Amino acid sequence: MRPEPNSGILDIEPYVPGKSKAPEGVTLHKLSSNETPLGASPKAIEAAHAALRALEVYPDGQASALRAAIAEVHGLRPQNILCGNGSDELLGLLCQCFLAPGDEAIHSEHGFLVYNIQIRARGAVPIVAPEVDATADVDAILERVGEKTKLVFLANPNNPTGTYLPFDEVRRLHAGLPKSTILVLDAAYAEYVRRNDYASGIELVSEAENVVMTRTFSKIYGLAALRIGWMYAPEAIVSVLDRVRGPFNLNAAAIAAGAAAIMDRAFVEKAADHNAHWLDWTTRELEALGLRVTPSVGNFILVHFPDGDGRTAADADAYLTARGYILRRVTGYGFPNALRMSIGTEEANRGVVDHLAAFLGA
Ligand SMILES: *Cc1c(COP(=O)(O)O)cnc(C)c1O
Repeated sequence: MRPEPNSGILDIEPYVPGKSKAPEGVTLHKLSSNETPLGASPKAIEAAHAALRALEVYPDGQASALRAAIAEVHGLRPQNILCGNGSDELLGLLCQCFLAPGDEAIHSEHGFLVYNIQIRARGAVPIVAPEVDATADVDAILERVGEKTKLVFLANPNNPTGTYLPFDEVRRLHAGLPKSTILVLDAAYAEYVRRNDYASGIELVSEAENVVMTRTFSKIYGLAALRIGWMYAPEAIVSVLDRVRGPFNLNAAAIAAGAAAIMDRAFVEKAADHNAHWLDWTTRELEALGLRVTPSVGNFILVHFPDGDGRTAADADAYLTARGYILRRVTGYGFPNALRMSIGTEEANRGVVDHLAAFLGA
């Protein structure tokens, strides 16, 4: 006899984060976790430092200063905002509160892996909707909705593909769902998107009782280490998650730094400009080398390699890693022969292109 976890838990493959080590002696360029190359706003760093002066005091369990800052910047009511220890925590809380064993939740074929893990952690059944051209397919999702469907997850834009659904498609998806099914719009990369037909989902949350939007400070704000996410949701859903979350789920440094970061709009704009320029440049340069790149609106690209002859994604990964350039293998996402590259500094982007040119020419 030994302790046994709940059924299904041992079938879950642990989430594998991007690698973060270069071989000894070479400079590390970590392009494996969609982190920003520009760091965090100096104002956020200063605020985090200030928070360290009172480590004996519990943080504000309501994260009021952070929620007020988010509300101000996005024009929302603080009552509709719930903060989490990263948006990952909020995704987990949604599953914990709305999925019972045997329930179903839908995500798309190449959707963010955290959904699948959290669904199965509740003993619920992940239903996978196929994609078209590495893009979520509204009809395929709607075809799979049934009486047991409690949640539908849509990363928009999606990681690791970088593709997105225009807002009219998101609206069509919502319109096809029963009122008892929650549509979870994960807009972790919303700040990077420059498309007129894109919207993060704020409007839809405001109009409906069954839509929530999650956001993060881990990407454009450069605060991944502090673990800060937030959700915009109807008050009834906020009130459900509020009962179950840890009473102090955000630490004091996170609350202070997050509030300062979101108020520094000039910093965010600079980061978005940097990304727009280098996303475009890197995509074009890699395509010029003959590689296929899935069109991305995020801060990363999915790069596909030729099959066989020593030039597969695994070969490219080994070649780049030996030179300090760490990209992300995405086999677990259904792309055994592609690598995901986060857009980095000018130096890092040029370095990847130069090394891949040598790799492919060899
Ligand atoms: C990075 C990412 C997140 C953010 O997770 P945090 O827990 O806030 O760091 C959420 N969703 C997707 C799709 C992501 O790629």
